[in-house]
Order: sequence, then structure tokens, then C-alpha cells
Amino acid sequence: MAIECRNCGKMNVDDAVFCAHCGSKLSVNANKKKAKSKKGNEKVEQEVANEVPSSGISMLGLIIFFVALIGFDTLLAMLLNQFGISHKVAFYLSSVLYVLVVGCGILELIDYSYKKKKGLEVTNKANNFAVAEIIMALFVLFANITQVLMK
Ligand SMILES: [Zn+2]
Repeated sequence: MAIECRNCGKMNVDDAVFCAHCGSKLSVNANKKKAKSKKGNEKVEQEVANEVPSSGISMLGLIIFFVALIGFDTLLAMLLNQFGISHKVAFYLSSVLYVLVVGCGILELIDYSYKKKKGLEVTNKANNFAVAEIIMALFVLFANITQVLMK
């Protein structure tokens, strides 16, 4: 790599200390540092480009899922039983939440395909997560419905 003179802008050989054209001192370290930091920036930019953040909608879905599973299907159902109210009420309410979870998963998938269409490099993580979430929510929703119908 040749060294560019800061004074006259002409190129000099690698190990030159003074410019062969104008005689001013060449700042070797400054040039090297500049090149290094430029490379570093490119690397960071590449990493950022590779990891387009997920919309976070599927994370919201996961929170709703656990609120429904632990808060409604478990705790509220137990509480209702204590007061002599059918725990079915809790299952009805949580069923609505599971539908919301499925909705969150679908929104994440839409967001994913939209980003892909725009040419962004999206990791598959959020996409796979959304699919798993939809299957999980549908499974518990199905279990809920059968329990409500059976009893
Ligand atoms: Zn020079």
C-alpha cells in the first residue's frame, strides 16, 4: 500500500518517511489508523445489515401466551373454582388471548415477508419463532375448546 502525502497528495512508497515530491514528513501511523477504522466501520455496518431486528410482535405474542396459560388457565381457573364459579369462564377468556397470540404470529410473518421484499437481509429466527408460536397457541386453543365442550 502506497502512502499518500497529506501536503501535496502524491503517492509515495510504503516505507517512505518524507515525501519524494514535496519533502514534507509523511504521517504513516495516521494513514494506517484511517484504513483500520474504515475497515472496522464496514464490518459493523455489515453486521447490522445482517441482523435486521424483528418487529417484536411475536415477543408480545409470547407474553400474551404465558399470561393466558399461567394467569388465566391456571390461576384464574383455580380462583373461580374457589368461589364456586365454573372455570370455563377462564378458558373462554384465555381462548380470546390465544387467538390474539396467533394474530401476533401472523403479523410477524407478514412483517418478515415485507422486509424480505424490500431486499433487507432478515434472519430466519423471528420467522421460525412466529411459526412455533402460532402452532403452540393453536394447540392450547384446541385443548381449551375441547375442555370447555367436554365438561
Ligand atoms: Zn508531498
